[in-house]
Amino acid sequence: MSKNTTKGEFPFISWGSRGTAPVSDPKKTKYCGNTMCSSLHIPQKERIVIDAGTGIIEMGRQFENKKKGKPYDIHLLLTHFHLDHIMGLPFFPLLYSPDTTITFYSPLPLKKTKKYLSGLMAEKYFPLDFQDTPSQKIIHKVPPQTFRIGRVEIDSFPLHHPQGCLAYRFKFEGKTLVFSTDTEHPEKGVDKELAAFCRDADILVYDATFTPEDYLDKKGWGHSTWLAGTELAAEAGVKSLFLSHFNPDYDDRKIDGIILSAREKFTRTFAAGKKDQIK
Ligand SMILES: [Zn+2]
Repeated sequence: MSKNTTKGEFPFISWGSRGTAPVSDPKKTKYCGNTMCSSLHIPQKERIVIDAGTGIIEMGRQFENKKKGKPYDIHLLLTHFHLDHIMGLPFFPLLYSPDTTITFYSPLPLKKTKKYLSGLMAEKYFPLDFQDTPSQKIIHKVPPQTFRIGRVEIDSFPLHHPQGCLAYRFKFEGKTLVFSTDTEHPEKGVDKELAAFCRDADILVYDATFTPEDYLDKKGWGHSTWLAGTELAAEAGVKSLFLSHFNPDYDDRKIDGIILSAREKFTRTFAAGKKDQIK
C-alpha cells in the first residue's frame, strides 16, 4: 500500500506516484511502485480521486473493504489520458460494483472521453466493454470556471505537456492543495502563471520526473525536475512541496538523494507515496 496523508494541511493519500510505468523491483518500491492515483482524505460522502493509474487498484480494494454494502459516490478527476494516468481503470474493483456511481471529470468533451476510456478495454484488449461494466457512469467535461464537488471547490489550469494536461487546485475548509503532476518548466525562471495558480497553497504536488542533469537530454518531453519544483514552491509561497511522478528508472537511493537535495533548497519537501521515510 502506498499511502501518505498529511496532518493539519490538506489530507490526501497517494496510492501511486510513479510516472510512465509501474515498477516492482524491490529496490524501487520504498516510495511507490504504482502509477499516478491520489484521493482526498476528507469527511464527505463524495470521494474525490485524481487519476486512475495502477494505484487505483489498491485504492479500490480498500474502498471495497470499507464499503460493506453502502453505495459509493466516486468523483474521478482525470488530468489527461496518457496511460500512466488511466491504465488502472479496467482493474478498478468498483468499476464492477452496481451500486457505485463514478463521475468522470475530463479535460476532453464527452464523446472523446468515452472513446479513450472505452479504447482501454476495446475488442481484443479486454473481455468486457467499458460501457458494459456494472457501475453507473457519468462524464463531465471540466468547466473553465470554478466548480464544486460536495464541499470542495475546484479550479483547473492547463500545463505544458504533450497533448495537454490539467493541474487541479482543491479548496476545503480554508485549506488548499494543488496537483501539478505532468508539466515542463520554462527554460529560464519560474512559470509565473502556474505560480499564480499555486499561490499560498498548503500543499503542492509536483512533477519531479527528472534530475536536473537527466533533464538536459529530455527537454521537450513535458516533464520537470525537483529543482524546478523547489523554485516554484518558493515563488508561489506554498507551505509544503510533495515531489511526485517518479521516474521508473530511478531506484529508492536515487529518490532519497532527490528528496534530500530538494530539502536544501526548500525545507518542507516530501515524497508523495508511502509516508516519508527520510528522517
Ligand atoms: Zn504522467
